[in-house]
Amino acid sequence: MRDTFKLTCAQCGRANYVTTKNKRTMSEKFEIKKYCAACNSHQSHKEGKISKG
Ligand SMILES: [Zn+2]
Repeated sequence: MRDTFKLTCAQCGRANYVTTKNKRTMSEKFEIKKYCAACNSHQSHKEGKISKG
């Protein structure tokens, strides 16, 4: 069971990345530093849900 989710910038809220995770091995929300084009710098990105379909 893999869930698709997006990584949104903690600063501006823009969804910059889309990835998948295995719910069984990664049950907790995570945070990762990635480049945000809107902020033009590296920012913390948090997991956000994508509606299926
Ligand atoms: Zn940003």
